[in-house]
Amino acid sequence: MQRHEQAVWNETSSEGYEPLLSEKDRTTIDVEFEELPDELTRESLELPALSEPEVARHYTRLSQMNYGIDSGPYPLGSCTMKYNPKFTEDVAARSEAAVHPDRPEEAVQGTLQLYHELQEYLGRIGGMDAVTLQPPAGAAGEFTGILVAKAYHERNGDGERRSEVIVPSSAHGTNFASAAMAGYDVVELPGDDDGRVDLEALRSAVGEETAALMLTNPNTLGLFERDIEEIASVVHDAGGLLYYDGANLNALLGRARPGDMGFDIMHYNVHKTFATPHGGGGPGAGPIGVTEELEPFLPSPQVEARNGTYELVEPEHSIGKVHGAMGNWLVLLKTHAYIRRLGDAGLRDTSAKAVLNANYLASQIDLEIPFGPFHHEFVASAGERDAAEFAKRMLDYGVHPPTTKWPEIVPEALMTEPTEAESKTTLDQLAAAFNAVADEDEETIAAAPETTSARYIDQTSAARSPRLSWHALSDDA
Ligand SMILES: *Cc1c(COP(=O)(O)O)cnc(C)c1O
Repeated sequence: MQRHEQAVWNETSSEGYEPLLSEKDRTTIDVEFEELPDELTRESLELPALSEPEVARHYTRLSQMNYGIDSGPYPLGSCTMKYNPKFTEDVAARSEAAVHPDRPEEAVQGTLQLYHELQEYLGRIGGMDAVTLQPPAGAAGEFTGILVAKAYHERNGDGERRSEVIVPSSAHGTNFASAAMAGYDVVELPGDDDGRVDLEALRSAVGEETAALMLTNPNTLGLFERDIEEIASVVHDAGGLLYYDGANLNALLGRARPGDMGFDIMHYNVHKTFATPHGGGGPGAGPIGVTEELEPFLPSPQVEARNGTYELVEPEHSIGKVHGAMGNWLVLLKTHAYIRRLGDAGLRDTSAKAVLNANYLASQIDLEIPFGPFHHEFVASAGERDAAEFAKRMLDYGVHPPTTKWPEIVPEALMTEPTEAESKTTLDQLAAAFNAVADEDEETIAAAPETTSARYIDQTSAARSPRLSWHALSDDA
């Protein structure tokens, strides 16, 4: 019989035609089927009879109940809600990017190369000798960094004595939490009158008990800690380590490096500085960088390049793993893509525009801004008005409000960070929203928002007992 490479149809020959599937399948599987138990069956499915466009429109409308960075400006201070460019999504969606974490090193050399490059890029950007990409968020990076500091002190026989971590009162809540979770007593450091670290207070707070000082620079008022070198020597002279909270790195990108200021450990919030999406509780990344001295304590594995191949290596005194696999790879890949696309010049440009935008916006709004000169963010005061109500009213003007009531040193704080991504037109729209609300009476402000899908919500219950599914809602009803 002649073999055909292509499927054929030849009615006249019994052997010459392409078999049907049912003719191809000559296997019989001997399986005994059992009836499904009653509790797993249902009488009907009650599926709504809708067309595809009706379903597409339904979900698109639901998506519009939320306000996101793709809907408009999002000047949430300290959070750096910059626009997430879509090309990084394309990169992360490529099938080559989906690598199973258990594949052997030799089969994933390309992935390890990108991983290694990102370790190097972040190290260069922060002025750090070694970087781990493993922690899944900024807060997780803080916790990892403090565990590294702890392992270092313990190794030096100094673990028990060094029982304190110093945190400025203006710091993010996660700094206090990370230090406490790592088993430290947290010492709160008051600021000075111009909103910076009070050197005298610092000198009297440090001592033999000091494990580390955690600091962000610029601080949460957007102010650069001008005495950073002095701060570093005070902490180092006492035998402590200096931890950099990288949340405000966008202000310095390509211009100044925490490592050069004397910081020993830092985290990078890639969703703030490098345009990966804010996780919203989903997968994120908060790599940390450390000096050479601390490198042996990093989580395992690290990626090292040896003779042209990339290897997974366990640092000598590693604190172990802080996340499954090697961190949230696809988030890290977006970070890599963003850094490569911008390059050195683009990263420098980012910080310049972030600072310019913040200063322009501040110059256009009619509210008091008690501290300055500031960098990438400023903290205005809502004055006699309640900052949270002021913020909710801004939603009615079609923009997302700033962060409220933090840092506490500014009464009724509106912590505002427009980021480099916004145009002058958008900044003017933001300023107009601030000014419109500033002119309104208390009653109007307190009744807001009027135009949003959800009105004034109970934020505490929303955070503590969220109802995340339709079932939870219908059970309540
Ligand atoms: C956002 C932020 C953090 C925590 O980072 P996450 O990535 O959200 O966990 C820490 N410090 C400051 C100042 C921040 O703004």
